Amino acid sequence: MTESPSFTVNKSRLHITAGGFDFYLVRDGYYRLDGGSMYGMVPKAIWETIEKYDEKNRLYMGMNCLLAAGRGKVYLADTGIGDKFDEKRKAIYGIEKEKNLLEEIADAGFKPEDITDVIPTHLHFDHAGWIQDNEGKLTFPNAVYHVQKTEWEEALNPHPRFKDSYLMNFYSALKDSPALHLLDGDEVIDNTVRVKLTAGHSKGHQIVIFETGEKTVAHFGDIAALASQVRTNWTCGFDRFPEETVTVKTPLLEEAFEGGWIVVTAHDRTIHAGQLEKVRGNFHLKKLI
Ligand SMILES: [Zn+2]
Repeated sequence: MTESPSFTVNKSRLHITAGGFDFYLVRDGYYRLDGGSMYGMVPKAIWETIEKYDEKNRLYMGMNCLLAAGRGKVYLADTGIGDKFDEKRKAIYGIEKEKNLLEEIADAGFKPEDITDVIPTHLHFDHAGWIQDNEGKLTFPNAVYHVQKTEWEEALNPHPRFKDSYLMNFYSALKDSPALHLLDGDEVIDNTVRVKLTAGHSKGHQIVIFETGEKTVAHFGDIAALASQVRTNWTCGFDRFPEETVTVKTPLLEEAFEGGWIVVTAHDRTIHAGQLEKVRGNFHLKKLI
């Protein structure tokens, strides 16, 4: 346990406390994606000095979700990849789980019924996996699901280039459900949480910002899929509108740096969450957990 004036960190439990909130980094196991796809225009000659990769050129990645409990609420930002893929797809994506998201949530001391708010950064399959279970019922039966309207429309009718990223059997239970709360851009959900529309990666990609009063903790989704992608001009090959990612990311990183935010990455297997520092003009994410 390390102490700091405004927050405490328990590295082994992937647990941070701040402002009366408990934040748990809860994962849905690991998977692998092609390094070139993840790094877009950044050449392998550069990214191979940062990342480990397998014989198929795939990076070792995780699925990092954030559970935040406090003020009578239990929030969950992102829901992993779920358990709906057949063996062929599991092999393509190299999915491995010692524990799944629900087991990690249980380890943190919570049941699916305890979750009051689910806030997916977007609805690609590696973020929307546990919105519903394999029987098609909402996994978190008492939660409100906060999704950007533009993301929901895309998920129901995806652009052909992204039809393999949006899988209806991951979220069909939200259709016509009172549990679905559609958001329209930057919105305040309550006195703790707000979302910021950051598009770029997908039409309705949002980041989830928890303001505890003492510390701000934000899940950056695929704006910072990997810790290295806190560099303002590094984008992911899967980004729908990469220039927009750079446009939104630049002031956002400055805000997070100035505010001393704790930033959660969506897929970094080693640096799940950290704080930004500037080294020779570039942002780096210094690991907390
Ligand atoms: Zn992702």
